[in-house]
Amino acid sequence: MVQVGPRSAVVVGAGIVGLSTAWFLQERGVAVTVVDRTGVAAGASWGNAGWLAPGLTIPLNEPSVLRYGLRSLLDPAAPLHVPLTADPALWSFLTRFAAHCRWSSWTRAVRANRSLNAGCLAAFDELTANGVAAPTVAAPVTAGFADRRQAHGLLRELDRMAEAGEPVEHAELDAARLRELVPLASRALTAGVRIDGQRHLDPGGFVRALARSVADRGGTVRTDEATGVRPHGRGVGVRTRDGGTLVADVAVVATGAWLSRLAAAWGVRVPVRAGRGYSFTVPVDRPVPGPIYLPGARVAGTPYRGALRIAGTMEFRDPDAPAVAARTEAIIASVRPLLDGVRWEECRDVWVGPRPITPDGRPLIGAVRVPGVYVAGGHGMWGLAHGPVTGRLLAEHVATGRRPDALRDFDPLR
Ligand SMILES: Cc1cc2nc3c(=O)[nH]c(=O)nc-3n(C[C@H](O)[C@H](O)[C@H](O)COP(=O)(O)OP(=O)(O)OC[C@H]3O[C@@H](n4cnc5c(N)ncnc54)[C@H](O)[C@@H]3O)c2cc1C
Repeated sequence: MVQVGPRSAVVVGAGIVGLSTAWFLQERGVAVTVVDRTGVAAGASWGNAGWLAPGLTIPLNEPSVLRYGLRSLLDPAAPLHVPLTADPALWSFLTRFAAHCRWSSWTRAVRANRSLNAGCLAAFDELTANGVAAPTVAAPVTAGFADRRQAHGLLRELDRMAEAGEPVEHAELDAARLRELVPLASRALTAGVRIDGQRHLDPGGFVRALARSVADRGGTVRTDEATGVRPHGRGVGVRTRDGGTLVADVAVVATGAWLSRLAAAWGVRVPVRAGRGYSFTVPVDRPVPGPIYLPGARVAGTPYRGALRIAGTMEFRDPDAPAVAARTEAIIASVRPLLDGVRWEECRDVWVGPRPITPDGRPLIGAVRVPGVYVAGGHGMWGLAHGPVTGRLLAEHVATGRRPDALRDFDPLR
């Protein structure tokens, strides 16, 4: 007997993960409807740093983060911010996160991510070769440091990545070579590390082009909030805020930092919390040939529409809370001495967005307890880079009923 896969899907969430899944489901002949409560790229997928940097997918749960986190609690301007609130769910999440700040968990996350890294650039190429009209740009990421000693932290992390099976081509730079790659580097930066083989893009532009491509291929992309997903006849029904129900053979919930709100009801016990980051754009007087990484300030810079997009901060706060102006000011204060030729006072596009963080540094991708329902989210700091490959692997799982080996470590029911 011929096994017939699903013919229709509702995808909840129009970020990079949901739209990529919709696009790759279409490749397998599935008719898709994508719903987002706000619109395309309304969450973390708009204002992020735009790095497609498989070489830097270093998990957050390093042991040193604990020490750093405790120090940050006492410093309101620190790049890591945990509000001292009485939210028990947040403290339960942070306790679980702290328990995973061990080299064994970190190494497991690096090893698991290898399968996403291996296919991540090829998945972007497949999209752009087949109708997604937005470029990706190849360029190394260049990290800048006050001196060579400070570069050792990053070099040690890259060594550890190699030991865990994810070797990253890189080279140390002296001050002159650093300035060639980062003409904006001030005299405060005298050493660098160049990480080769990476790319970057305009994330909002890319995700919008992806949504257009899904629509051009016959999909529907509409604004609606999902309030629940239930079995419905032989398929699933996605209930929407306006009282309607969207019926399809399967549903994929890809709601980023909001994932737990729907998924907790389906046996998904790994929580996803918002690690909010900020970004803004500043005009520059010198060229920006490629992404700039400033590990001391925990800030990323990316060429963006002829200017520089600056991104940073990790703030564990409600994903829907308004932006806190002091965070942007703290980022500018930390980076101003490190870069020259930046017109900070003309800062625009100030944005806050929620990274979807899991306690063990691994995303949740796959089937849940309700038949026909799948989740895809929790990619943390690297969901842009890993979104399309996630969509490709999950579409294979949904269409064939067989979970690809590459997704084994991301079981949402772990
Ligand atoms: C400052 C910053 C810099 C970053 N830099 C990088 C980088 O350089 N490279 C990289 O790879 N990653 C980066 N990231 C991480 C990356 O942005 C995220 O991991 C990724 O965008 C997550 O995509 P997503 O599709 O899972 O979630 P989102 O883009 O957040 O999409 C989720 C969508 O679900 C919708 N939604 C929520 N609830 C519902 C509901 N009930 N019904 C309908 N819709 C709903 C939301 O409106 C939203 O549009 C960065 C993040 C930040 C904050």
